[in-house]
Amino acid sequence: MPALLDIQNIHKAFGGNVVLQGASLNVMPGEIVGLLGPNGSGKSTLLNVASGFTRADSGEVRFEGQDISRLPAHRIVHHGMARTFQLPSMPSKMSVLEVTLAADTRLHGVWSTLLKPSAVREAEAEALQQANQLLDSLLLTPVKQLAASAISGGQKKLLSIACALMARPKLLMLDEPTAGVHPNLRRDIVQTLQRLRAQGISQLIVEHDMHFVREVCTRCIVLDRGQIVADCKPEELSSHPQVIEAYLGRAAAQ
Ligand code: ADP
Ligand code: MG
Repeated sequence: MPALLDIQNIHKAFGGNVVLQGASLNVMPGEIVGLLGPNGSGKSTLLNVASGFTRADSGEVRFEGQDISRLPAHRIVHHGMARTFQLPSMPSKMSVLEVTLAADTRLHGVWSTLLKPSAVREAEAEALQQANQLLDSLLLTPVKQLAASAISGGQKKLLSIACALMARPKLLMLDEPTAGVHPNLRRDIVQTLQRLRAQGISQLIVEHDMHFVREVCTRCIVLDRGQIVADCKPEELSSHPQVIEAYLGRAAAQ
């Protein structure tokens, strides 16, 4: 079976700061892959490279076999990959529902001008239905008319998942979806991600919380100083000396 996402030998430096040093990973259809590693190890940079927000110095990104390494982010979304950011920032004036609707790329500039007015109206009606369904499944219905900037940090994380899902992705990439989220809401996020997997949406999730990783992920990849040091099942993580080293420092692994 071909990989959904295949990242090969990525190198990236910001000035003299070498962040990724030959990182490779793949996500197969149906997987929820956890991407772990200490702060500053290059996890967000790797997601930025995969989703077209950062251009790698070298290496290749393939999605369903197609080379997308040189495509900008807005084109990559149309291939079926959507993502959230570690710190979602929300526009202050738009409501939760409006922000969700605005994430439907079919309604954007050039795309909508290619459609007949009746098709635009149809797409708008579909988008409204989809946005309402997503907000409902992510427990955001009670706040959907509030300003998106006014909801809690955890709700913003859920809203950014709703926005990513508006693109109907095959692969969803999430950057720390449960960081700073209240435990009650964490449970909902876990259930949401499991439900999405059952619906056929594969996932690559940057996450620190080991409980979350054991519960949700089907495979784990550990990044340390820009290199992949482990690729294993969640239950095998604790027996990997490189993982212990990455998290606890060199002394603990000896
Ligand atoms: P992680 O997500 O694993 O905590 P990041 O990928 O965010 O790590 O950052 C890895 C390193 O890359 C850090 O040293 C960070 O300062 C640097 N970095 C990330 N993005 C940029 C950028 N746009 N410009 C300069 N340095 C960056
Ligand atoms: Mg990060």
